[in-house]
Amino acid sequence: MRPQILYPLFAGIENIKGVGAKAKTLLSHLCGDKIINILWHLPYNIVDRTYSPALSHAEIGRIITVKIKVVEHVPPKSKHQPYKIICTDGTDDITLSFFKAYPESLQKNLPTNAERIISGKLEVFNGALQMNHPDYIGRPEESDIIKGIEPVYPLTAGITNKMMRKFTHTALSVVPNLPEWQDERFLQMNKFESFKQALIKAHNPQSASDIGANSPYRRRLAYDELLANQLALAFVRQKVKKQQGRSFNGNGQLQAQVLKACPFQLTESQQKVLAEIKADMASPYRMLRLLQGDVGSGKTIVALLSMLNCVETGAQAAIMAPTEILAKQHLETIAPLCDACGIKVALLIGKTKKKERTEILEQLADGTIQILIGTHALFTDTVTFKDLGFIVVDEQHRFGVQQRLALSAKGNKPDILVMTATPIPRTLILTAYGDMEYSKIEKAPEGRKPTDTRVMPLNKIQDVVAALKRKVDSGIRAYWVCPLVEESEKTDLAAAEERFHTLQKVFGDDVGLIHGKMKEAEKDAVMTDFKTGKIKVLVATTVIEVGVNVPEATLMIIEQAERFGLAQLHQLRGRIKRGFEASTCILLYGFPLSETARERLNIMKNSEDGFVIAEKDMELRGFGEILGNRQSGFEVFHLADLSTDKELMLTAHKDAQLIVSQDPKLETPRGQALKILLYLFEQDDAVKTYLAG
Ligand code: ADP
Ligand code: MG
Repeated sequence: MRPQILYPLFAGIENIKGVGAKAKTLLSHLCGDKIINILWHLPYNIVDRTYSPALSHAEIGRIITVKIKVVEHVPPKSKHQPYKIICTDGTDDITLSFFKAYPESLQKNLPTNAERIISGKLEVFNGALQMNHPDYIGRPEESDIIKGIEPVYPLTAGITNKMMRKFTHTALSVVPNLPEWQDERFLQMNKFESFKQALIKAHNPQSASDIGANSPYRRRLAYDELLANQLALAFVRQKVKKQQGRSFNGNGQLQAQVLKACPFQLTESQQKVLAEIKADMASPYRMLRLLQGDVGSGKTIVALLSMLNCVETGAQAAIMAPTEILAKQHLETIAPLCDACGIKVALLIGKTKKKERTEILEQLADGTIQILIGTHALFTDTVTFKDLGFIVVDEQHRFGVQQRLALSAKGNKPDILVMTATPIPRTLILTAYGDMEYSKIEKAPEGRKPTDTRVMPLNKIQDVVAALKRKVDSGIRAYWVCPLVEESEKTDLAAAEERFHTLQKVFGDDVGLIHGKMKEAEKDAVMTDFKTGKIKVLVATTVIEVGVNVPEATLMIIEQAERFGLAQLHQLRGRIKRGFEASTCILLYGFPLSETARERLNIMKNSEDGFVIAEKDMELRGFGEILGNRQSGFEVFHLADLSTDKELMLTAHKDAQLIVSQDPKLETPRGQALKILLYLFEQDDAVKTYLAG
């Protein structure tokens, strides 16, 4: 249960004075519906209201804050004129002008002869000083509040900065003094103040550097958030690790046979990750490991050898792909190698015929089938293994994070290997997969020719088609990828169909179409035709994105490439890097092309390294979409920004590991405080699941 000391922070925003029903709705959308959400909503800019000259000497065009006395109200003579109020500071006059004014409220706020503090931009009109709609009008005693550095908040229509400041002020007043959860020395080293002080100062910046990425106040808060995240994940990881699992120590016989049948030798990178996986499998705890390797880096053989390491001990293994096409492709790669060592492999997908399915199910139950390949159909309730010991999940980003937890419920305490080609920067790995062990294939097998990537405007499409025709006539096969117009399949489809028809006029039967709305059997047929060369140009929506292997295809045209994410473009381009032929990728862009979009396409042109691309992408866009938020369950932080807080992230990761090893139940005084930190950043689940009892 949430500690009592935090109750005020988790009270609803309606408890703040001045927040009515309407403001509540607006604020909920803007930052959230609890008081803590207002506090996490930090200013992004400042307005300096400290300039307070005598009017006679004031610099025109600056924001000034001055004490004036109201001299005279001059109501407008016609609708189009402003309501004017003439004031003086004793050195000069100034006219305050208000368009569309309510005279009553002006009379009330600025009665004749009253003294007021006003703040706003000083202008000149017809030779006289003027201020249009002052930002602030206050009583003399409010001078201190107005005459300072004003924080500027991200806003929404209906919530003014003034309101936001007032709400924040109230919210700050309920922040309790919390016990310190950070290490004292660490705080000193970084010049970090207490959580409460940091929060107060982050909301009351005194200079531009107080709000920037390097502000010690903002950084302190960001670190708190990152540590909470890393600590929660560290507990999950520890729990998984501590779960009794099985120790798989294959004798290596099957692996040796497969390696002999394999046309290539493992690269050093592959050997390294295989050793890591096998060491993990040999330990008596549950394995949950992420295997990361760029497109074409050779993850499949690593997966197969790991599965055999389990099969050698007499248990079964399964590999799960995100689509049926990919599952079948795995079968094509794996089956011949398994034949070579007499291992029984089967494919189970949604459309597997009833009779065949029944047979497969029987053979899974009695252990005849040693390796099962499939889609998620593989984990329906009807599927029972005799002894499932090892699961490989391929191309993980298509599966939700929840699913990896559900998965481990299948089988007999199976070890799990999750493979992904998404180039995820290390900092993101830590936040999204911090509960997993991690292996990476650093280098792809050698001998691959680089892809020649060209960026061209869409209006050159006629030239591209002509060049494509020449290439196809010389025997090359090509993908033509159609744009992601919206998130909707329907519009994507229309674009792809239209392109298919125009290309048909040039290529006749040599061109085929594949898209997500087709039946599996239809997709299969088209894919087979493309593989065998019956079709030479394949028009596709992004269904070809992940993993499809047609080594003969060495040309790819991506239409309106600016609409794709960089990670996605990289995946797509990976499709033509399968063979050892030189390949060409043409990125066609539409107009208008923004600066960022142009820069992103240039990144594609200049790099083929998925990690470089991902890092650059993150710098350009922030870190949000790299993983595809919803699918990955990856959450954007309130305070931390991984494009600038990488170092903090790594420190938090180490810190969390240390804490978990030294104080696994958070029982020391610092541990107790850290528990509060976990609740503060709503990691309640971590506390409940891993620290209870
Ligand atoms: P991915 O990591 O994208 O799943 P794959 O496992 O499909 O990559 O491998 C891509 C291609 O590289 C395949 O054609 C595979 O046969 C080949 N390959 C894998 N390992 C090696 C190696 N060590 N040497 C040469 N070719 C390899
Ligand atoms: Mg693959």
